[in-house]
Amino acid sequence: SLIITDECINCDVCEPECPNGAISQGDEIYQIDPNKCTECVGHFDEPQCQQVCPVDCIPHDPDHQETKDQLMQKFLKLSAAA
Ligand code: SF4
Ligand code: SF4
Repeated sequence: SLIITDECINCDVCEPECPNGAISQGDEIYQIDPNKCTECVGHFDEPQCQQVCPVDCIPHDPDHQETKDQLMQKFLKLSAAA
């Protein structure tokens, strides 16, 4: 999963770009649900939120490190549930 850091300026451009609906507005800044973020695996070659964020505040989450295989499994699970 990726994570949004406190450098987020609440510009709202990332939220509609997420194919998994993993991004939402939190109390102070936008946030990513690690259970829904596949790092865009299954949808796009590059994480879409990272592509659009104007302040570059969406790094990999060191507490949620996943392999491509794990991210693909998550994508398949989310697709089946949808
Ligand atoms: Fe959504 Fe992709 Fe960003 Fe994860 S990397 S939050 S799936 S846009
Ligand atoms: Fe925050 Fe970046 Fe998303 Fe804008 S694009 S809301 S700055 S994380």
